[in-house]
Amino acid sequence: MKYSLPRGTRDVLPDETKNWQFIEKTAKKLFSLYNYIEIRTPIFEQSEIFEKSIGASTDIVEKEMYTFKDKSDRLLTLRPEGTAPIVRAYIQNALYKTYSPTKLYYCGPMFRYERPQAGRYRQFYQIGIENIGNAHPFSDAEVISLGMKIFEKLGLTNLTVSINSVGCSVCRPVIEERIKQFIGANLKKFCPNCIRRFDENPLRILDCKNKKCITYLSGLPDIRGSLCHECADHFSSVLESLDSLGIKFIINPTLVRGLDYYTKTAFEIISDRLGAQNAICGGGRYDVLVEQMGGPPTAAVGFAFGMERVVMVLKELKMFKEQESNLVFMAPLGTDQQIKCLQLADSLRLAGIKCDMSYSKTDLKSQLKIANKLNAGYTVIYGEEEAQKNVVLIKNMKVRTQEEVPFKKVKEYFINENLL
Ligand code: AMP
Repeated sequence: MKYSLPRGTRDVLPDETKNWQFIEKTAKKLFSLYNYIEIRTPIFEQSEIFEKSIGASTDIVEKEMYTFKDKSDRLLTLRPEGTAPIVRAYIQNALYKTYSPTKLYYCGPMFRYERPQAGRYRQFYQIGIENIGNAHPFSDAEVISLGMKIFEKLGLTNLTVSINSVGCSVCRPVIEERIKQFIGANLKKFCPNCIRRFDENPLRILDCKNKKCITYLSGLPDIRGSLCHECADHFSSVLESLDSLGIKFIINPTLVRGLDYYTKTAFEIISDRLGAQNAICGGGRYDVLVEQMGGPPTAAVGFAFGMERVVMVLKELKMFKEQESNLVFMAPLGTDQQIKCLQLADSLRLAGIKCDMSYSKTDLKSQLKIANKLNAGYTVIYGEEEAQKNVVLIKNMKVRTQEEVPFKKVKEYFINENLL
């Protein structure tokens, strides 16, 4: 019997993990420069946490959650996103008492039962930040700028920031009324989901992916005309600060994102290199979520980007460079020499030099074959003759040169070659 992985999931094979590590390392370096600290929360949470925060009439809650009962009949859900669990942890551990504002980052798999396609999976990996306790519009700009910096650092080009304001509890009813008025008699032409959401949650109609619905929405008056003073001022200030940071953006009046907790700013970072799933990063402000989940009134803003999509774009741009190999391969020629090489490998690793050897082969030809297969940078050849002279032969596998080095100086040799 042959097993294969579940639909919508993928193996990240050794060839690709180095790209993932490179992206993660770059992001973490920048997070630290902006004073973010890592948080790790469980992969599953009480279902209610997601239902209440993401919103009952969103696609995620309506049809995409992996929800199950555990053996004690607890209703649990594999996390479809990172913000709600972090807000739960923030409140439960009273993080506001220790750090304010609380600048957190996270990395990990998320789960949504979506229709799989290029760039859309059922298990996908997100890297994100939450800046909790910061109401100032400059923090929105800083969050967006941090996202852009990561992508710039990775070598991503042709990105666009698409931005909108979805208002707050004061102006949201006005926005919703405007949407309803605009749709008016055309409602019956919309998809059944939109028809249902017309009364339940009209803002969600703007997030519908159905082509017909999108067409009927064209010409919708700019949401900004319905914003209250505070939201309008906040939005202008975000746009000004983006300008001052040299970040180009386009205002997209129908951008509301697929989660209900957003207030004021909502944004996406779009790549022209991806097809239908062109958003590599999404985020926004969520000023009421902490209070809604039982914490003190706390403004917050954050984003998450999808690892798989960033990898796709970087691959297409051929941004992943083949790294020079720094692997040292030990090639003892004979069993007597094996033990000496085993000790040498040990001491090289202790000094921080990457080292490997084969125990089953002791002839030169087979060992060089293995060294090539492993893409070793160097092979240390140690035969009877070398043992008698107390030396090794170091073969540079790239330029194919060979030199004799005293056995005692091997470590020093590789340190000088900058293999650390
Ligand atoms: P969201 O959590 O929906 O705001 O999405 C933030 C980012 O996560 C998106 O811009 C994508 O890069 C990524 N993402 C969301 N859903 C998926 C998915 N099903 N498969 C792959 N990446 C995803």
